[in-house]
Amino acid sequence: MALTHSVYDSPVFRQACTQFDFAADIIGMEAGVRVRTKLPRRCLVVNLPVRMDNGKVETFEGYRVQHNLSTGPAKGGIRFHQDVTLGEVAALAMWMSWKCSLVGLPYGGAKGGVIVNARDMSTGELERLSRRYMQEIAPFIGPNIDIPAPDVGTNEQVMAWMMDTYSNHVGHFDPGVITGKPIALGGSLGRKEATGEGVAYFTKAYLTDLGIKAGDTTVVIQGFGNVGSETAMALQAWGAKVVGISDFTGGVSNPKGVDIQDAIAYVAKNRSLEGYTGGDTVTNEQLLELPCTVLIPAALERVITEKNAGKLKCRVLAEGANGPTTNEADKIIEQRGDIELIPDVLCNSGGVIVSYFEWLQNLQNYYWEKDEVFARLHKMLAKAKANVDATKAKYRCSRRTAALVLGISRVAEAKAKRGLFP
Ligand code: NAD
Repeated sequence: MALTHSVYDSPVFRQACTQFDFAADIIGMEAGVRVRTKLPRRCLVVNLPVRMDNGKVETFEGYRVQHNLSTGPAKGGIRFHQDVTLGEVAALAMWMSWKCSLVGLPYGGAKGGVIVNARDMSTGELERLSRRYMQEIAPFIGPNIDIPAPDVGTNEQVMAWMMDTYSNHVGHFDPGVITGKPIALGGSLGRKEATGEGVAYFTKAYLTDLGIKAGDTTVVIQGFGNVGSETAMALQAWGAKVVGISDFTGGVSNPKGVDIQDAIAYVAKNRSLEGYTGGDTVTNEQLLELPCTVLIPAALERVITEKNAGKLKCRVLAEGANGPTTNEADKIIEQRGDIELIPDVLCNSGGVIVSYFEWLQNLQNYYWEKDEVFARLHKMLAKAKANVDATKAKYRCSRRTAALVLGISRVAEAKAKRGLFP
């Protein structure tokens, strides 16, 4: 299908489709199942009128894309960001399908988004927008249909408002509709840390494979929100030194090591790293090219491109963010051969794994201890790493393509065996 005729057409959607095609070619996926496995099943576009604090009404546009419902209820976060597009949400939904399939979760893939700069909103405005979005998507989702979660620009509090709105819609407390909730509302212990814990787990595992010790490891992280800050804390606790961090305002580099707790406290107080003096000021472009053992993009898509891929000075590229590396940059990194790339669908899968645990706990009304959550998480991550590395060796392909081969195979098989409707 010519993508230019698709409502999803955009650079990031094409990036996800090209990745899919590489993997589908390797396993010779037949045409009949190929296109319907690749393209999203359905999407919802909503307009959200919200009363602002100044008394005026502003209307925001939002989306929910369900890419795959063939292997279980769809699962994926909700992004609040000024640059959200339907194509971006569709690409993110596609990656959720492959991620859930790769790590063996009984889920399909979805994603949601609203075009808004939530940082400029008051708490009251953010609550009204969050509730209105959930009100509009409520007939389209549910604990057995599609289960949202946090992503860029949303957090535990937003999940709480959305859960409450959905529960009022169905007439009873229904925490299994959304994950990443506060503990008091059925959230799971360990969910807040889970994505960063997983990124750190894979980083440590691949460094160990390379014979690199914690004390010899320096780390640079782009994005200092949930994923970036939790990864920084986990790697610092292991003994690595974080020498660069950034957010949307820019960043700092410090060869002696950035004080992560101090930076987290600064962001909690000032809402960004702007003005932070714990190192030399750097731009986001400069940050990505700093010398380090591990580079971790943990912000947005398409930041590692053909322009900077040749200039990266890291040994390991751990994709905390979804889609941070363009297809052109992937090629350059493969040709260089000196960077171990841990692809997004593997690297940041810890988040959706613990979201799955949260959903299970909600459905059973039986809650687990944190050490139990992490023990089960680590077991699933270890299995996924072993499967990806075995597939990489089998097909002599990149680690990204190996991860996608695993991810797309199960979805395609489910579709082929179920018939044309799912
Ligand atoms: P977040 O909103 O908590 O943090 C995002 C961070 O990125 C913030 O520090 C923000 O300032 C920064 N940022 C935004 N634009 C930037 C730019 N142009 N340059 C540099 N930094 C910029 O979001 P998050 O939940 O940490 O998500 C980060 C990434 O991780 C996203 O790609 C998301 O899809 C992915 N991810 C998140 C989870 C999760 O559990 N939250 C799970 C898997 C993957």
